[in-house]
Parts: sequence; C-alpha cells; structure tokens
Amino acid sequence: MTLALHGLGVSSGYAIGLAQVFSHDRLEAPHYQLRKADLPAEVERFDAAVVAVRLALTDLGQHIPEGAPSELQAFLDLHRLILDDSLLCEAPKQLILELGCNAEWALAQQSSHLIAQFQGIEDPYFRERWHDVRQVAEKLLKELMGHPAKESEGGRKQAEEPTILVAHDLSPSDMILFKQQAYAGFVTDLGGQTSHTAILARSLNIPAVMALHTAHALVQDGDWLVIDGVAGVLLVNPDAHTMDEYRLRQHAWMLEQKKLRRLKTSVSKTLDGQAVELLANIDLPEDVVEAIEENAAGVGLFRTEFLYMNRNLPPDEDEQFEAYRQVLAAMHDRPVVIRTLDVGADKSVPWMTQVSENPALGLRAIRLCLAEPQIFLTQVRAILRAAQTGSARILIPMIVSLSELDQALALIETAKQQLCDEGVPFCEAVPIGGMIEVPAAALAVEWFAKRLDFLSIGTNDLIQYTLAIDRTDDSVVHLYDPLHPAILHLVSHTLRVAKRLGVPVSVCGEMAGDAHLTRLLLGMGLRSFSMHPAHLLRVKQQILRSHVADLVAPVGRLLRAGEIDRIQAKLARLNEA
Ligand code: PEP
Ligand code: MG
Repeated sequence: MTLALHGLGVSSGYAIGLAQVFSHDRLEAPHYQLRKADLPAEVERFDAAVVAVRLALTDLGQHIPEGAPSELQAFLDLHRLILDDSLLCEAPKQLILELGCNAEWALAQQSSHLIAQFQGIEDPYFRERWHDVRQVAEKLLKELMGHPAKESEGGRKQAEEPTILVAHDLSPSDMILFKQQAYAGFVTDLGGQTSHTAILARSLNIPAVMALHTAHALVQDGDWLVIDGVAGVLLVNPDAHTMDEYRLRQHAWMLEQKKLRRLKTSVSKTLDGQAVELLANIDLPEDVVEAIEENAAGVGLFRTEFLYMNRNLPPDEDEQFEAYRQVLAAMHDRPVVIRTLDVGADKSVPWMTQVSENPALGLRAIRLCLAEPQIFLTQVRAILRAAQTGSARILIPMIVSLSELDQALALIETAKQQLCDEGVPFCEAVPIGGMIEVPAAALAVEWFAKRLDFLSIGTNDLIQYTLAIDRTDDSVVHLYDPLHPAILHLVSHTLRVAKRLGVPVSVCGEMAGDAHLTRLLLGMGLRSFSMHPAHLLRVKQQILRSHVADLVAPVGRLLRAGEIDRIQAKLARLNEA
C-alpha cells in the first residue's frame, strides 16, 4: 500500500529512488559499488586495516605510561578481543563480496548489526559493551578512510538505483559530509524552511522534504520512495502507475531546467533597462565552480563557518588563507564577500565550549568572535592576506549595537597592524560591510550604514528574530512568513535608507532566491540579489520579464496593505502581469 507523508518542500524537483535510512548510531561511511574484478583487492584492504589496528592496540599496550589506571590494560585487551572476533574481522569481507560494495560500507553495516545485538542484551554489563564495539569499528573505519581504495580504471561503478537519504534530523555538519555523496534526494522528520540544513540541501540542488515527523520511523532501508519537493510530499512504496506518473513529472521538470540554461549568458537587465546584480551564496570553496557555471557576477555571501565544522580545532590562518585565495582566484576580479565566522544557534562546532541555554539569542556570530578575539583575528588576517589576490570584502554577521561594530572594526585594524609589523603582505583597502539580520539593526540602519562600506540583508534571521520564530523548529514553521508586514517594512526601510546614504545594499537571505518575490524586491528598490547558484537563472528569468517602472506603484500599495491575505493577493497580481 502506498503511504503519503506531507511535510515541507525545502528544495524543489522530483526524486525516485531506494531509501537509505540514516541513524546517528551508525558509522558515517562512504558507500559505493565496485566492479567484481576489484573485490579481492577490497577484501585485502580490509585485512590490512585489521592488521594495522591490531598493531596499534598492541603498541599502545606496550607503552602504557607509569601510574596509568590498571583498567587501561584490561580495556585494551577487550578491544583486541573484539577486533579478533570473526563477527568483526571476517563478516565484513563476506559482505564486500556479496554486496559488491566498498570495505567502509561493509564494516558500517556489520557493526550496526552487532551494536544492535549488544543493545538488546538484558544484562547491563554486557549491554554497555556496545560502546566498545563501536569504538573498535570506528578505529577500523578511520584506518580504512586514511587508506582509501586506489581507483582502478572504472573501479567504482554507479549504484544501480538512485538512493534517497531518510533521517530523523540532520545537522548542518552532517549535511556538509553528505555533500560528497551522490544522493538523489533527502527527507527528514524535523527542520524548518530556512534552517541551515535546508539551505545546504538547496545548495546540493536535489529535491528535499523536511518536517515529515514520522518518515524515519515508517520508512525502511530499501523501500521505494518518491520525493515531490514541489508539493512537499513523500510517497513510500508507490504502485507502478504512480511511479510512472512521477517519472513523467520528473522528466518535465528536467526539461524546464534545461530550458532555463539558455538564459545563462543573457545580461541581467529588466525590460526598462535596469541592471540587476546576481551574486552567488557559497558554503565551501569548491562551490565556486557552480557559481561560475551559472555566470554569477560574484560571490555575495561566503558562509565561512562550514570551514570550521567536523573538526576538533578551528582551521589555522594558513589553511583559511588558502581557502579564501582559492575562491578569489576562481572568481578572477569579481567581488567575493567573505562573511566572518557565524557559528552558534543551529551551527555548532565541537570546539565551542560556551553553549547558551538559548543559542539563537546567545553567543553567536560576531558576539562569539568578540568574546574569542583570537579566533576573529586569525580569520581577518587570513582574509586580508588573501585579498591581495582578488576583490575581497569582509562581511560582519549579526550586528546589533554600534559598540559591537566599533569593536569589530578595531580588531580589523589590529589585524592590519599586526601584519604590517610582521612585514606580511596584505591588502589595506578591503571594504567592510555588515549584515542587517536583526530588527534592531534594520531599525537603526542609518547609524550602521554611516560606518560601513556596504550592507547585506539576511532575511532568514531577520524573519526569525522579528517574528520570534525558531527557523529550525518545524512546529512553528507555518508562522515563518517573509510576507509579514513587519518584515516587508524592515526590508523596505533598509533599502530606502541605504539608497539615501548611497551605501550599496544587497539581500543574501533565502528571499533573494525565491523567484515569487523577485518583482516585489525589485519594486522595493533592490538591485543586488545573492542566492544559491541553483536559483540564479529562475530569478534572472523574472528580472528579464519585469518592468521596474510598472512595479513601483503596485509594490507601494502592497506595502501599505497590512493584512496578509491582501498582501498575498497583490503579490499574485504582481507576478501575473
Ligand atoms: C540570513 O540570516 O539571512 C543569512 C543569509 O545568514 P544565515 O542564513 O547563514 O544565517
Ligand atoms: Mg543569518
């Protein structure tokens, strides 16, 4: 029987594939298929990893420091016993041969199975041993991942069928890991439209539905799934007729995407000749490839915090320098707006020790950087050095008060002074901008604008903080509304003040990439949009069809409409014309 679950379509399009249910109890292992001829070598690779881990455990046992607790030897003995059990050191080899898969995947499957068995044991002492099984399996996995399979010619083959990831919840750091794996789509039980997990999903440009509540419990590994990212629906084990219907929809969607590609080289201008800048949002340096592919005029938002995730310590200055240099070099002379570290709230990192009770209102973004000035200085030094190689700009997130802004500006001066004293070359004249993403900053924008070279409106947080709605919480997602009159007022006020003061302003929140809102933003006076590259052409299509002079009066009426129903009706009319 087909099951239909309704959630929130966070990334459009259609995906059809087999479910792969993700669990945090499971090891995060890459998965790929191998040609039959390469399987014996894969078995040998697994054997070599077992030998290496056994040696490492023996070596540890022989070098136990004096005074170490006596349990340490017993603990190492136990791990050696677990490693030498055929259920761990032999069974995965059988799986490699049976499933034709890589060693990491076979190990992850077998260890999940073993862990589940231990967790089911009644005796509490033996039950707790599942942690030891996991630790040994993790050691093996790390060893394997440090010595990945050599790619023989055509050694890997595509999985037979596309896979769809099913999870209860995914953190932004999980999503960053999944960026390297080829899923056809993903679904989660939790999450909101502009959570960073959803933003990353859109950046993968694969269909995704969140806030499904029960998908993780109802779906089983290997179920056939259809994701309708347009309607926000997940179908589980649909009948053949429904699958055919969705294959047709998928085909039509792809044709439409292909047609849009014709706009790639068109100049971004309205019908009445107003030039509109279309910039890209990126999360990792490698995302510039897509920005260039979509012909973005520059990078309007580089969310640098993703460089800091999935690691025990922040990246050092040289590593960051290299990341920024890479992006600047790839973009040639096009501008690259590098946002300083914005961790906290839903973007946590293991090395952040002070976690607030209410992290969205706590030590996040520039607040954290001012509390940990060394982290900020390291990043700013790296940006200033890299800025010599291209057109870099610094963007400060989540500014709320002028004193914070002044402290941040003073630290940037300190970084320059340090580099100067050390004789390290850097660029002196890097423009500095601020994000307007908290109502206080929008209302007081005049004073911020006078101290800054440019502004960028972060509508994701502006909505969260104005409407008091956690952007990651699916239970209040229905209240998260970009068309709320308060939001429209704050955005339009910011645009007006920036224009009056002659300070360049763009929008880099998700509103900029929503083609339904393009005309509204154009009518409010916006001429610079920054969004994930996947949305650029659809927004450009709207720009090419629009006549700004005809938008100003209806947008003025829409802004005065007040009630949400009237605003929606006026927006629909604006988009029809
Ligand atoms: C925003 O808040 O709109 C924004 C662009 O920043 P982030 O989504 O990374 O918080
Ligand atoms: Mg933000």
